[in-house]
Amino acid sequence: RGFGNLAAVTDQLVSPEVAAVSELIDLAGRRALITGGAKGIGAAIARRLAEAGAIVTVGDVDDAADEDPDVEFVRCDITRPDDVDAAVSAAAGDDDRLDIVVNNAGIFPTTGPMLDASDDFVARMLDVNVRSTFSVARQAAKHMPEGGSIVNLASIAALGGGANISAYAASKAAVVSLTRAFARELGPRGIRVNAVAPGVIDTPGVRDQLEPLKASGVDIASRISANPLGLTGQPDHVARAVLFLVSPLAAFVTGHVLVVDGGSTA
Ligand code: NAD
Repeated sequence: RGFGNLAAVTDQLVSPEVAAVSELIDLAGRRALITGGAKGIGAAIARRLAEAGAIVTVGDVDDAADEDPDVEFVRCDITRPDDVDAAVSAAAGDDDRLDIVVNNAGIFPTTGPMLDASDDFVARMLDVNVRSTFSVARQAAKHMPEGGSIVNLASIAALGGGANISAYAASKAAVVSLTRAFARELGPRGIRVNAVAPGVIDTPGVRDQLEPLKASGVDIASRISANPLGLTGQPDHVARAVLFLVSPLAAFVTGHVLVVDGGSTA
């Protein structure tokens, strides 16, 4: 089905022992879909994958990505099945082949004590972060050849308890479970499925969360860099980890959750 020009890349994924380093991060010709890639972590991932040679489609409700000449933009709300189908088709192109999917779109609205969380609030969190991640992965996997790769955005919130973020933490724990289950199911087809679990990363979404705390004297910059490395977590820190996971460097890595948090959970 027109995979001939990708035979070399697929070889590296399936039996990587002879490849040079430059080949191991080469994504030339590989077709990728990044959800939520208009800004923040998703935009950094889209840039890095395009730089490595991938043909990148971004699906987002925000059309800011439309201005990036290196990526194709598709308006897509991942909670809407028709939008998901259209984004997957656009990303798969005429070859009907989708090599890489990064399930990055997710929400983290201001939460609070579990005693105050309404059922609607919890349902919306699970609908966007879990059900929709599942449906993008399922639709994409139908078009994914051997050597394909899925990366899901989890969070360190999935790995330890977190007061006042229970619904978000539960949604990301579900993403970790999906990642492991999909890795087992799709492994026999030569498809790898991994997750990244970022710590606090300086993105528009996080700024929206923290901005209101300024009034009560919280130093936002030090809050964002409160990790053993003392660094501000940047979207590109996460993008580099995703690049590793989708590339042939990670040919034998599947079902893994890669923590990218400057040591916050160490
Ligand atoms: P962000 O809010 O800055 O950007 C998210 C992007 O997703 C936006 O472009 C938004 O329009 C898009 N999006 C939201 N809902 C969508 C939907 N229904 N359909 C399509 N697109 C949608 O977020 P971010 O900080 O870059 O986070 C990206 C991912 O990383 C999320 O899954 C988030 O939970 C996860 N994460 C972020 C952090 C962090 O500190 N920033 C930490 C851990 C995990």
